[in-house]
Amino acid sequence: MTGTLTVVGLGPGDPRYRTPAAMEVLAKATDLVGYGPYLDRVPEREGLARHPSDNRVELDRARYALDLAAAGRHVAVVSGGDPGVFAMAAAVFEALEAARPEWAGVSVRVEPGITAMLAAAARLGAPLGGDFCALSLSDNLKPWDVVMSRLRAVLAADFVVALYNPISRARPWQLGAALALAAEIKPAGTLVAFARAVGRPDESVAVMPIADAADRASSADMATLVLIGATATRLVAGADGATHLYTPRSVGRQP
Ligand code: SAH
Repeated sequence: MTGTLTVVGLGPGDPRYRTPAAMEVLAKATDLVGYGPYLDRVPEREGLARHPSDNRVELDRARYALDLAAAGRHVAVVSGGDPGVFAMAAAVFEALEAARPEWAGVSVRVEPGITAMLAAAARLGAPLGGDFCALSLSDNLKPWDVVMSRLRAVLAADFVVALYNPISRARPWQLGAALALAAEIKPAGTLVAFARAVGRPDESVAVMPIADAADRASSADMATLVLIGATATRLVAGADGATHLYTPRSVGRQP
């Protein structure tokens, strides 16, 4: 009997940010495959086998999950946030391209989740109200000069830019370099936000002028999403004294 493979997004951390459809898949799965800390977010249950693996072995993990499904299991491959955003869904399809005969008949589906960029944006206000884009700052899977040339292009085009994977122990200086480039290209009034561990108990957000951002790069970590505002991105005071970061939807018109 052939099983199924569903790539499931767990959302940013808070279990209430997990969709009912994702929870249904997790409730029916016989096997959970994914990076250990993500598996830890799914409660234990009888009849649910867990297969944690290291974060760097995405293709091996995808092949392993396909093998389990081919053996008749109902496999949930889990990712944080959305599984299609810098995560496991693409790795599963990349593995599928090899078209191994033993995988014939395995049905693959993707169940979405709230990606870090959207969770962070909601915490901050509405910084994605205008055109925006997302870049992974990691040079594990693409050369650093590609990262920088894409960043230069989208900053010059005045998108709001969400930077995923801003920093890690193996990549300590890249975020500082990216923010220094941003400070050269953007007007001085441009705002930058660091949103850390959104939806988790240790959540924190900070908004700063772009001139200060590169110096604060070392305060970011692997659980931080960095947002570089567009020229029009600004702060508005709420009636209760809170401040909100937003980008107007109109361009070139006074609100
Ligand atoms: N599939 C995930 C992203 C994986 S890349 C998603 O859709 O969210 C991992 C990067 O996502 C981290 O380095 C960080 O930049 C960002 N990230 C993931 N969870 C986050 C959270 N709760 N708060 C802020 N950033 C987060």
